[in-house]
Amino acid sequence: MILGRTGRSNRRGPRDTPAMMAAPVDCLIIGGGPAGLTAAIYLARFHLSTVLLDDGHSRALQIPCTNNHAGFPDGISGRELVGRMQAQALRFGARILSGRVDDVMIAAEGFRALGSDIALEARSMLIATGVTNRRPIIDDATHAEALARGKLRYCPVCDGFEVTDQNVAVIGSGPRAISECEFLRSYTARVSLILDRRDNLTEIDVRRLADIGVPVIAGPPRDFGLEPDGLSFSVSKKRLRFEAVYPALGSIIHSKLATSLGAAVTDEGCIQVDPHQRTTRSGLYAAGDVVKGLDQISHAMGEAGVAATTIRNDLASVRPRLR
Ligand SMILES: Cc1cc2nc3c(=O)[nH]c(=O)nc-3n(C[C@H](O)[C@H](O)[C@H](O)COP(=O)(O)OP(=O)(O)OC[C@H]3O[C@@H](n4cnc5c(N)ncnc54)[C@H](O)[C@@H]3O)c2cc1C
Repeated sequence: MILGRTGRSNRRGPRDTPAMMAAPVDCLIIGGGPAGLTAAIYLARFHLSTVLLDDGHSRALQIPCTNNHAGFPDGISGRELVGRMQAQALRFGARILSGRVDDVMIAAEGFRALGSDIALEARSMLIATGVTNRRPIIDDATHAEALARGKLRYCPVCDGFEVTDQNVAVIGSGPRAISECEFLRSYTARVSLILDRRDNLTEIDVRRLADIGVPVIAGPPRDFGLEPDGLSFSVSKKRLRFEAVYPALGSIIHSKLATSLGAAVTDEGCIQVDPHQRTTRSGLYAAGDVVKGLDQISHAMGEAGVAATTIRNDLASVRPRLR
């Protein structure tokens, strides 16, 4: 049962308000992107009591239209995809709550999660908290509009096809940005690297880029502006315009809740899991971008399906599930 803060029975809706839970649930999922929602669908269909808590910043919500997600030949917006997955999870009895989990700890039957408006206990917990891309310095409105119009992009694996033969800039420095330039060169001959800091390319990097015809332009880029046919910005005394811009500035990995429970992470900060999505902390599982992988919807969903099935089987090994 879910009780409101005042103890009243809570209403049920697509995204319930945060609540105090009376009894431990079988699984608490933290994160309501493609990974968390896939797990919610599977777990609810295993007849497990499942609560998903999400604070509403899925990277999928930023996708204007994904064209590489199988099954949607005309593409689908990330918002529409997430909405469909929420409806599917709710249909089979998962509870979806809006709210942020600030703290997790070990409890008698598993774990306790605390947020500003929630306290609940769960026998198992799935971390599906994703990552946040580091942005160039660009105001929120311009950023949102540029994303929506496909002038600003964060994922060449997802949408490199869409910039075929366009004039493209990669913003960044270091190995990630160089690899992104190399990757994008298989889509277009017109790729430029805009450095986000000074003097941070090695001789080898410079040669690698020169070999594939990628000019290096000193940055950092500033004063971004949307144009009818691209995104412009200033570097030194020049104003440049590109049909598409890819920041390659790395990500903030949301693995803090897992590390606070002692789960191991990689050097980059991704949660370490075994082939069944178990973390190094018993009863704690992880899936999606927060785990090292392809950072794609399909991969997040696949990991979540594996995690949910493992959770089901691990719980059943302690307490057999008989109907
Ligand atoms: C612009 C853009 C375009 C993309 N295009 C594509 C594409 O075309 N194809 C493709 O396959 N992939 C694409 N991706 C990547 C895709 O969005 C991600 O791989 C996918 O969303 C990962 O799913 P996830 O569930 O792991 O994480 P997310 O979708 O990021 O979801 C994580 C959720 O956890 C929540 N959360 C985090 N911490 C807490 C907390 N403490 N308490 C409560 N909730 C919390 C967040 O608010 C968020 O809702 C794109 C990404 C971007 C940014």
